[in-house]
Formats: sequence, C-alpha cells, structure tokens
Amino acid sequence: MDALDLNESQAADHLPQREGFASCNPGMMHACGHDGHTTIGLGLASVLMAMKDQLSGTIKLIFQPAEEGVRGAKAMVTAGVVDDVDLFTAIHLGTGVPAGELVCGSDSFLATTKLDVNFTGVGAHAGGRPEEGRNALLAAAQATLALHGLTQHSGGVARVNVGVLQAGTGRNVVPDCALLKVETRGITNQVNDDIYQQALRVIAGAAAMYGVEHQVQLMGAARSSTPTQPWVDFIHQQADALGIFDSVVDRKAQAAGSEDATYMMERVKQHGGQASYAIFGCDLAAGHHNAKFDFDEQLMPVAITLLATLALNQAQFGGGR
Ligand SMILES: [Zn+2]
Ligand SMILES: [Zn+2]
Repeated sequence: MDALDLNESQAADHLPQREGFASCNPGMMHACGHDGHTTIGLGLASVLMAMKDQLSGTIKLIFQPAEEGVRGAKAMVTAGVVDDVDLFTAIHLGTGVPAGELVCGSDSFLATTKLDVNFTGVGAHAGGRPEEGRNALLAAAQATLALHGLTQHSGGVARVNVGVLQAGTGRNVVPDCALLKVETRGITNQVNDDIYQQALRVIAGAAAMYGVEHQVQLMGAARSSTPTQPWVDFIHQQADALGIFDSVVDRKAQAAGSEDATYMMERVKQHGGQASYAIFGCDLAAGHHNAKFDFDEQLMPVAITLLATLALNQAQFGGGR
C-alpha cells in the first residue's frame, strides 16, 4: 500500500537490501513508512481480537490507500467510512520527529492541490517549416519557471513544485505535446487556494505565449485540519501513563508534508466527533521519499501498544461528547 515512484537503493549498506525485503518492483518503493503503518494496523487487529472481551463499542481500522498523492481519503469519506466515528486517530511514523517521542495532535499539514497539465501544440519540421509549429515544450518550460516563482504569500508558508516535465517526440520535430505534474501547498486552505489560482493563470499565460492549447486535470487534494484538544489531551494522558515514550508532546512546529486524512478528521469533527493525528517519532536511515529510506521497526510494537490502549480505555474519555 502506498509505494512511491522510486527505485529502492541496492547498496549493501541499505538494510532492506541486505536482509532481503527491499522492493522487487522497479520504480516502486515503500519510501515513506506506509508498509510500517499497514503492519501496525495488522498487529493492532490481532491484539484487539485477543482482548475483545474487554472492549466496548465498534472499533474500525481504516487502511487508507493513496495517501501519497493525496487521492485516497476523500473517496473513502464520500463512501461514508467515518460517518459513524466518534473518536478518530490517524497515524504516521517518522516525519522528522525524534525516536522515543510521540506527537499526540499534529496540526502542521499543508493544504495541497495536485494537477496534471497537458499542453497541445502543432508539430512541424524543425528546419524546413518551424514557423508552422506551435511549441508545447517551450510553453511547459516557461510555465515551470514561472510557477516556481509563485510562493510569496503574507498568509504564511507556500510551496510550488513541478515534479515532472515530459515533452516532445523527436530531435528534429517542433514539440507538439508536453505534460507537467504540478503541486501547490499552503499553510492554510486560503494560502493554497490563492497559490493554486495564481498557478492556473501562469499556466494559461504560458500556453497563450506559444499559441498552444492546454488542459488542467485535478489529480488530488488535501486540506489542513486542526485536532480537537480534548481528544489530544486524552491521548497525551494515556501515553504518559504507559511510560513507553521518552517524550510526549501535543504538537510540534515543523514544516511538514500534506496529508489527506485531514478529510477524515474534518468529517468526524463535522459530526461532533473528536479527531487527531498522532506521529510516532523514530530513527530513519534516510529521509522520507529517499531511495535509502528505512525506519526502525522497534517503533511498531510501541505504536500498537498505544493504539490498543486507546481502544481499551476510550470509554473513560469524557471530554467533548
Ligand atoms: Zn510520503
Ligand atoms: Zn507518508
């Protein structure tokens, strides 16, 4: 679940390679820890079944696909997966939080929009009749440079990235096609929306400069969301009581990525429920989305212990209901 478009390192000092559990699919790699999340979920399921006589209420384990690219949560929310959920906790490991630390209610996710842009020009003989062509590659290149200058906003952090530019078909042909894969991000929904609207104007302008057609396709999105404090307090208190973390904090100021579990948090909150997003700090061999990413597996039983404890003790939670 949720591999990334990346070739996993085959270096001898890369533990998954050495131990024989590196990806066997070229161009696909678990470089963010979602294999760990899946394993934690399965471990939690078996622990909960072993103590099911002590549990009350309904407990849902949600294995959400396509967090990478933020394409999965919205569809699950639309399908009603969290409509009956009173208490919700999403998790992620790593993300720069040190080993031994638990963040009970991360709220540092950037709102984001993902878009594909197709430029369609007119091919022509590059030597004989270049003036008859409409150069889609130049439009895409112009758009790329301009897009990367869009991140000024008084509302706070903003990001733009063009991660892919593919264009053209041959050396002596005026390129009639180009594809950009673009994302915008913002510290608030408003910042992201503003940068996104400006990006659309830049893309249209670049297309107009070279007389080419363009088409924008939305590929994914996520909102920013704030955890509900009573539930964060409860997680904090339960984690403290377990005594298995070196440090437990409510939130952490960090430049984070984006996360579409925010859609689930927002839906749960809309229905009067409590929602949070916990991050389990752990040692990483390399940063997220790096070909040498690997996380310390000691973290997995720790995460299962906390989540099982929350399921077991949730009846004690009084706040906000
Ligand atoms: Zn990731
Ligand atoms: Zn991730």
